[in-house]
Amino acid sequence: MNALNKSLAEAGFCSEYKMLINGKLVRAEANFPVYNPATNEVLAEAPAASASQVDSAIAAAKLAFPAWAALSWDERASYLYAYADAVEAVKEELATLLTLEQGKPRRLGAIPEVDGSIYWIREIASRRLKTEEISHLRDHHAEVIHTPLGVVGAITPWNYPVLLALWKVAPCLLTGNTLVLKPSPYTPLCTLRLGEIAQGIFPDGVINIVSGTDEIGPQMTSHPDIAKISFTGSSATGRRVMESSSANLKRLTLELGGNDPAILMPDADWEALVPRIFSAAFGNSGQWCIGTKRIYAHSSYHARFVKALADYSRTQKVGNGLEDDTVLGPVQNRMQYDKLRSLFNDVKENNYTVAVGGTIDENLPGNFVPVTIVDNPPENSRIVQEEPFGPIVPVIAYDDIDDVITKANASPFGLGCSVWGRDVDAATAVIRRLESGIAWVNDSQFLDVDLPFGGHKLSGLGNENGRQGLEEFTNCRTIVIRK
Ligand code: NAD
Repeated sequence: MNALNKSLAEAGFCSEYKMLINGKLVRAEANFPVYNPATNEVLAEAPAASASQVDSAIAAAKLAFPAWAALSWDERASYLYAYADAVEAVKEELATLLTLEQGKPRRLGAIPEVDGSIYWIREIASRRLKTEEISHLRDHHAEVIHTPLGVVGAITPWNYPVLLALWKVAPCLLTGNTLVLKPSPYTPLCTLRLGEIAQGIFPDGVINIVSGTDEIGPQMTSHPDIAKISFTGSSATGRRVMESSSANLKRLTLELGGNDPAILMPDADWEALVPRIFSAAFGNSGQWCIGTKRIYAHSSYHARFVKALADYSRTQKVGNGLEDDTVLGPVQNRMQYDKLRSLFNDVKENNYTVAVGGTIDENLPGNFVPVTIVDNPPENSRIVQEEPFGPIVPVIAYDDIDDVITKANASPFGLGCSVWGRDVDAATAVIRRLESGIAWVNDSQFLDVDLPFGGHKLSGLGNENGRQGLEEFTNCRTIVIRK
């Protein structure tokens, strides 16, 4: 155990982070550092899997597949319920570890993420894919069934490392597949801990967890023994995943980036909406795929809305996520911080009006970025066109609803969108004209186990959650019997 991991152990955490391969917790020959984004100090070391360890994990999952697939849905669900109980037993520890490695506020971000993940495992475990009987054919009877695919490779990002990992673990295992899961190198610790918890619960090889650099990703996506990749991350990496998965025509679910518009209708109760729009845009410090990234406010109240949003944001504390009154934590990693610096510089160089924030204090010890509202930048500006993935958002004035719909749709992304107004029918009529996988009227970011979630255009391929999400972990098989 090295000194860093020892200090985490003294604070009551897992003493050494190991990978889970074929039911064994294993070290790697090399380790890599994991940073606390609130201090930029090294928090712990995580194992960097060698190529042969990744191969072993895939081989173990392949070996475990037939017996796991042969179990009934109820039997597999019982393992998931046991797993949910075991995660729940350490949820306080997991939430603190999540704050330490990801940065999000423990009270407002990490605990809800861990609680939500446990809920998700249990709910998914209770779902079933039904066999469809086709009996109206004259000479034949047919059944449409769902069979597992084999070994699934799951690849996750750093913004919701616990939730997004378990969104893949639960449906993958329930449907009879086995799994190799790779977390982001920026946030591997919670996932490794989830592997340690899984060790005593699932049969050997059913779930394997390997950590390391980005290079593990291509090894998984090109591996002939992986049948499906379930990927969450950026659109740029999603394209690479798709290219590299082509050799054996892997099934793919790609949950990618977004640039979600929120349209505040002319009749919106804009004053009452301020706290909700704040959370929609700045929650998780703007680091969520379905965060509101462009706000279109009607010109009759745009200036007053911008001022109210800016005033409200000044009351929301940005700080270390371990402090109970912190609303927004730091940006998770230096790469993302540098991307945001470039975007902030672009706002400055173009003299866009900033209603609050606008300057990153680079002398702070962690990756802290101030809440920033850019007031009415041009439609073709970087801040409107790009996905910032940080606490900065443009608020754009509009007059004509058809024009704003055209602007909202003129994006290569199509993940989510929201429309806010007193007249629900009018708001719903607008949302029906917007292009995205999920769309909310008078709400945003609402997700549920039964709601399919997936992006259009560059925001992805396929769905997670809902019946559709479960089906994506299966092959559809039609059995035809002559009467
Ligand atoms: P990223 O694409 O850089 O990394 C995601 C994962 O892919 C990491 O585990 C990384 O190690 C791995 N990876 C890197 N190169 C790879 C390759 N060539 N082949 C296979 N895997 C590879 O994304 P990120 O920076 O971790 O996450 C931020 C992005 O994720 C944002 O664009 C955000 O919108 C998106 N995101 C989408 C959703 C969604 O559900 N649609 C959810 C969360 C985040």
